[in-house]
Amino acid sequence: MQSSGQADLGDMVLVGGGHSHVGVLKRFGMQGLPGLRLTVICTDTHTPYSGMLPGYVAGHYRYEEVHIDLRRLAAFAGARYYQDEVIGIDRENRRVLCRNHPPLGYDRLSINIGSAPAMDRVAGADEYAIPVKPIRRFNERWLAMLERVCRQPGPSTIAVVGAGAGGVELTLAMQYRLRRELQLRGRDPDDLHFHLLSADHDILRTHNARVRQRFEAVLAERGVVVHRAAEVGSVSRGQISTRSGETLATDEVFWVTQAGAAAWLRDTGLALDSGGFIQVADTLQTLSDPLIFAAGDCAAMIDHPLEKAGVFAVRQGRPLAENLRRSLLQQPLLAYRPQRHWLALISTGDRYAIASRGAASAQGAWVWRWKDWIDRRFMASFADLPAKTWPA
Ligand SMILES: Cc1cc2nc3c(=O)[nH]c(=O)nc-3n(C[C@H](O)[C@H](O)[C@H](O)COP(=O)(O)OP(=O)(O)OC[C@H]3O[C@@H](n4cnc5c(N)ncnc54)[C@H](O)[C@@H]3O)c2cc1C
Repeated sequence: MQSSGQADLGDMVLVGGGHSHVGVLKRFGMQGLPGLRLTVICTDTHTPYSGMLPGYVAGHYRYEEVHIDLRRLAAFAGARYYQDEVIGIDRENRRVLCRNHPPLGYDRLSINIGSAPAMDRVAGADEYAIPVKPIRRFNERWLAMLERVCRQPGPSTIAVVGAGAGGVELTLAMQYRLRRELQLRGRDPDDLHFHLLSADHDILRTHNARVRQRFEAVLAERGVVVHRAAEVGSVSRGQISTRSGETLATDEVFWVTQAGAAAWLRDTGLALDSGGFIQVADTLQTLSDPLIFAAGDCAAMIDHPLEKAGVFAVRQGRPLAENLRRSLLQQPLLAYRPQRHWLALISTGDRYAIASRGAASAQGAWVWRWKDWIDRRFMASFADLPAKTWPA
């Protein structure tokens, strides 16, 4: 509560509860700013941790184990939590526009709404394909498919569109899980047919050649048919067609293509890059508006182009929290420089993983155990919240 004589720092609104904002909430919970009213608005009550998502699909983790409880975290930070979808920003009047709540005033705003696979340029994709994001909807449809495949006798063909790390991991995780489920029911796991479609000639284009070769070998061993230079042009019920004229009959289509930006950002007047992502400086402050910050997939650091990966969104949590605090206290902001090479631990579905960092790679069950340890430690840091160091 604000004591008399205490400065009123106004309202800070966090839009989206992504990997960066969970870090901001945790830090403001540990060390709050008296006089600040904090609000977080998110479509979901739980933030899925992307690193553990394939492990959840494969059946190694329960749903609760791979999600951060946003309401609990907001309470820890002394923040109001609104479950809602932000649909715009009225910058002139400093108000956030929500689908279901009245406009909400802000003095500082931070955006961490992630990205979703771009589907709008492919006819029928919206209707017939299952996008991997938002995760909540993906999960509902994945569970429905799991049930359908288990109940329906005979073969099933599943296509995954997008052969980056997310698409490859998801293919192998789904295959591992579905094969096991069929085996448990005394069915033939070879009834399952998986296809992976890559718009490029290569899979895992942003990883080194050794990592690509290792995954090529795993996919071949598991009987996943990889379609190269196979950009999908349309999706209809039971079929996908590539721009080069190939057609494939499928029962299910999962969409894990390159990250696309939220359409409503275009109407905010904020400077965006060619992909529609919010341009930010090294301070994570937007180029257009000193009151607005952005981080994670929805942001584009103009001096440090980054891959859209949860690891960067997580890392940006600390500098974002620090610079939001500094901005509120009218102190100079600090520049954040992300690392040039980053470690990706990409799982193969079966408690085995391949590590990729710059030109280096390694693989083994030990890599999966290492990844599992890192991921569980990260999640535990949100479950066992530390004591507050500020007066409630
Ligand atoms: C299958 C798969 C596996 C992956 N594995 C990895 C991995 O191992 N390592 C890695 O580094 N990256 C991985 N990624 C990439 C990773 O998922 C993203 O880079 C990461 O989630 C981005 O984090 P973020 O904080 O920007 O946004 P998100 O984690 O997407 O969070 C955004 C939040 O904002 C909410 N939101 C969205 N729009 C609105 C709105 N308008 N109003 C209010 N709330 C909104 C969303 O519901 C969500 O809760 C993977 C991706 C996929 C698809």
